[in-house]
Amino acid sequence: MAKPILLSVDDDPDVLRAIERDLRTKYGAEFRVIGSDSPESALTLLKQLKLRNDSVALLIADQRMPYMDGVAFLQEAMHVFPEAKRALLTAYADTNAAIDAINQASINYFFLKPWDPPSEHLYPQLDDLLDDWQASYRPKFQGIRVLGTRWSPKSYELRDFLARNRVPYQWMDVEISANDPETKRLLEVLGPEASSLPVVLFPDGTKLLESAPAEVAQKVGLKTRAQTNFYDLAIVGGGPAGLAAAVYGASEGLHTVMIEREAPGGQAGMSSRIENYLGFPTGLSGGDLARRAVVQARRFGVEILSPQEATGIRTEGPYRIIKLADGSEISCHALMIATGVQWRRLEAPGVDRLQGAGIYYGGGATEAMSCKGEILYVIGGANSAGQAAMNFAKYAEKAVIVVRGSSLSSTMSQYLIDQIKEVRNIQLWANASVAEAHGATHLEEISFLCSDTNRIERVPATAMFIFIGALPRTDWLAGVVERDERGFILTGPDLIRDGQRPKGWQLDRDPFLLETSVPGIFAVGDVRHGSVKRVASGVGEGSVAVQFIHQYLSKV
Ligand SMILES: Cc1cc2nc3c(=O)[nH]c(=O)nc-3n(C[C@H](O)[C@H](O)[C@H](O)COP(=O)(O)OP(=O)(O)OC[C@H]3O[C@@H](n4cnc5c(N)ncnc54)[C@H](O)[C@@H]3O)c2cc1C
Repeated sequence: MAKPILLSVDDDPDVLRAIERDLRTKYGAEFRVIGSDSPESALTLLKQLKLRNDSVALLIADQRMPYMDGVAFLQEAMHVFPEAKRALLTAYADTNAAIDAINQASINYFFLKPWDPPSEHLYPQLDDLLDDWQASYRPKFQGIRVLGTRWSPKSYELRDFLARNRVPYQWMDVEISANDPETKRLLEVLGPEASSLPVVLFPDGTKLLESAPAEVAQKVGLKTRAQTNFYDLAIVGGGPAGLAAAVYGASEGLHTVMIEREAPGGQAGMSSRIENYLGFPTGLSGGDLARRAVVQARRFGVEILSPQEATGIRTEGPYRIIKLADGSEISCHALMIATGVQWRRLEAPGVDRLQGAGIYYGGGATEAMSCKGEILYVIGGANSAGQAAMNFAKYAEKAVIVVRGSSLSSTMSQYLIDQIKEVRNIQLWANASVAEAHGATHLEEISFLCSDTNRIERVPATAMFIFIGALPRTDWLAGVVERDERGFILTGPDLIRDGQRPKGWQLDRDPFLLETSVPGIFAVGDVRHGSVKRVASGVGEGSVAVQFIHQYLSKV
C-alpha cells in the first residue's frame, strides 16, 4: 500500500534539503517525504496526488516565498487535502504573522528556523500532529476509480466490461455523490475534464477521459495482441465451449490462442447461478465458472486475447487465417468457432434509445445493486430470465417477470419455477408484452400491451432487463462456412445432403462430427446448428472437438 505523504515547500534549497532530511530520518519508514521548491509546483503536485488517490498527512511550508507566501499556500492546499496537518516554517521576525495564521487560517503549528536539534524543536510537535492525523486516517482505495453516472450507457458499458473481466474498480457516481465533499474536491481538481465522463483514474496518476473498454483494457494489461502470428489451434469465442476447447487443446500440447470479444465466460458468465452443471450440487455462479476456467487455461499456456474481435476468416492452403478488429491477422492450422449467441433485440419504440440507461440486455449484474429498493422488470420467460429475477430480488423492492404467454411452465425449468414461487418479492405478469419505453435521459415508464384485456398499461420503472432469446452473429463467416437460414453453423452429418459432401469439399472423407464445411474449421457450443444450448453441452463439444482436431492435424 502506498505510504501517506509529508510534503515540504521552500524556495531556499538549503532549508528544503534540511527539512526533507530531518523528516525522512524520523518518518521515512512510514511516510513518503516529498519536497517542492515553489508553492505553485507544490499545488500542481497536490492535484496529481489527489487524482492518484494518495493520502497527504502533512504540509509544511516556509512563510517567506516569492509570489505566494506559506499561509496562502497552505490555505490553497487545504481545498485539495483538508485532512492534512498544516505547519509553517518561520523566521523569528515572522512570529506574530504565524500566530495570526494559526488563529485565522487553520494552520496547526509553526516552527522557528532553525529547528536544531530536531529532537527538541521539530519531532515532538510533529509526532503530536501526525498522531492526530493517524487517528482519523482511513487508507484510500488503491485501484482504478471510475467516475460516471448511473444513466450513462457509456459508463454502464465500461463498468460491465470491468466487472466481467474481473478488474477491481471503485465506482463513483458523480450525480448521486454530488454533495460528497471528497467527490467535489476530485471534480474540482479535474476541472473541465470532469465533463468527459466516464473518467477513469489509474493508481499511477494517469487518467482516461470518455474512456472506452478497449483503451482501459490496454492500460490494465489485458492482452489484445497475439505474441506470434501462427498457432496450432485458434479459438474464436471464450464462453464455456471455447474455454473447454482451450483447456483440452493446450493440455494436449497444442499451441493455442483464444480470441474473446468481451470477456471470457460468455453467456454463462452472466448467469448468477448455474444449478445443473455436473459436480456442483449447490450450483455455482457463471462468474466463478469463467474465472476457474480462465486460470486453468492459462496454466496450460493458452494465450487469451480479450477484448479482441474476429471480423473475418479466409483459407490459404493448409492455413486458416483470422482477421481481427484491430486489423491484425492470426494464422493457424485448426480453427474453432465458439461464438455462441447474442441477445435478440426487443423491437419497441424507445428501447434502442434508452439501452444502457435503464434498459439492459441480459443479466446486468453491474446494475442489480443500483436497483436497491426499486421495482424492476424482467422481460422473458426462459431460465435466464428466472435466474436474473432471483438475483435482482435480493436488491430490488420487487422484480416483475413479464411474459407474453399465460404462465412460465412451457419456457422455464420446474425447479426454477418452484424457487421463484418461494420468493416474496418476485411477481409474474402474464399475457403482457412491451409496447413502448418512455423517458428523456433514462427509463422512467414502460407501456405494456396486455393481450387478455387488449389494453395498454403504463407503469413507472427505472430498470428493465431483457431476456427474449438469442441468435448467432455469424455474418463475418458468410461465404466461407455453411450456415442455416438463422445463421447457426452447420457441422458434421448436417452438411451431407442427398449423400453429397458440402460444396468445395475436396477430402476423401466426410466432415468430422463438429467440423464445418471447410476442413480444419470446427464449430462448437450454442453457435452450432442443432446444439443443446447448455453449459455442459458446450463444454462437452469443446473438449470432444479437440480429438477431431488431432485427427485433422495428423493429415495436414
Ligand atoms: C443468464 C443466463 C443463464 C444461463 N443459465 C444456464 C444454466 O443455469 N445452465 C445451463 O446449462 N446453461 C445456462 N445458460 C446457457 C449457457 O450459458 C449457454 O448455453 C453457454 O454459455 C453456451 O456456451 P458457448 O461457449 O457456446 O457460447 P457463449 O457462452 O455465448 O460464448 C460465446 C463467446 O464468444 C464471444 N464472441 C462472439 N463473437 C465473437 C467474435 N466475432 N470474436 C470474438 N469473440 C466473439 C462472445 O463475446 C462470448 O463470450 C444460461 C445463459 C444465460 C444467458
